[in-house]
Amino acid sequence: MLRLDIGSLPDGLTHVDLTADTSEWGDVLEGGHLESPVEVSLDVTRNGRDIFIKGRAGVTAVLECGRCLAGYVFALETPIVLWVIVGGEAASGEGENVIEVPARAGYADLSDHVRSELLVQVPLKQLCKADCRGFCPVCGANLNSAPCGCHIESHDARWEALKKMREQR
Ligand SMILES: [Zn+2]
Ligand SMILES: [Zn+2]
Repeated sequence: MLRLDIGSLPDGLTHVDLTADTSEWGDVLEGGHLESPVEVSLDVTRNGRDIFIKGRAGVTAVLECGRCLAGYVFALETPIVLWVIVGGEAASGEGENVIEVPARAGYADLSDHVRSELLVQVPLKQLCKADCRGFCPVCGANLNSAPCGCHIESHDARWEALKKMREQR
């Protein structure tokens, strides 16, 4: 749990570094997994019941390449901007960047917020490298290791079939 201790947090600016195990987050990456603990580095400004948090979070992930299916290391990093309101009524209009905690809780759990901000950073197109060659469509060899020598037609067979149908009319 990314636990920000509120009980001992003084007014004014405090720098807080937190680390937490990510195993309790479960399988959050399709085809991949988180490889390191999550680390956050935060500037925390407290003014009584209002706590403003600004900083960064990062975790090392292993993602699955969409072309060759190899796992590759990818650093997920995100800025964090968050308000924590201690013992408050709901603050109107602040939305998803607000965590409210009961005064007697003594801490705020930042895990959910940090996790969702990190997962937004997972690229839609996952490639082990920009020029990953993927698999040969003929023999299935991984073309990153070596060319397989297959003759790959540059045109698509489906279009070829359509062309033939047209010609027969
Ligand atoms: Zn690849
Ligand atoms: Zn081949």
